[in-house]
Amino acid sequence: MSKTQCTDRVVGAILASWRYDISGIYPEMRKDYVQHFAECPHCRARQKFHRSLDVTLVVLTSLAVFFFLFALSVLHHIKPLEHVAFNIFGLDIFDMYQMFVSAGVAGLCFSVIALALVLTTTPAPTYLGGIAAERAKLLEDRLPESIKSLLPR
Ligand SMILES: [Zn+2]
Repeated sequence: MSKTQCTDRVVGAILASWRYDISGIYPEMRKDYVQHFAECPHCRARQKFHRSLDVTLVVLTSLAVFFFLFALSVLHHIKPLEHVAFNIFGLDIFDMYQMFVSAGVAGLCFSVIALALVLTTTPAPTYLGGIAAERAKLLEDRLPESIKSLLPR
C-alpha cells in the first residue's frame, strides 16, 4: 500500500493493532507513541488514513439515518406511489404503504445502530471534537481585540 517502512517495527506493530489510535492511552504513557508518530512518516500516514476512514463511516451512517428519516416523512405525502401500487403491482394500497413504512423503520433502526457502533468503536468523536476545538481556536485568534475581551476566559 505504501512504500515507506516503519522506523520501529515493534512500536509500529503495537500502533497497527490499535488502528493508530492513541487517544485512549494515559497521557504519560502516550509520550513514546507521540514521539514515534513525529519520527515515522509511515505510521503518520497510516494514522491519517485510519482517521479519515472513521470520519467517512460517521458521515455515511449519519447520511443513512437522515435518508431513512426523510423517506419516512415523504411516505406520508406521496400519492403517486398509490397509483404505482394499484395499477402496476396490483397491490392493495394499504399493504403497499405498510411495506414501505416497515422498510423505512427497519432501515432507520439499522442505520442508527450502525452510527452508534461507529461512534463507540472508533475514535471519530474524539478526533472530530479535536478538529472542532482547533478550528474554534483559530477563529478566536482572528477576532478583533474588542470582541476577544468580551469572551469568557
Ligand atoms: Zn512507525
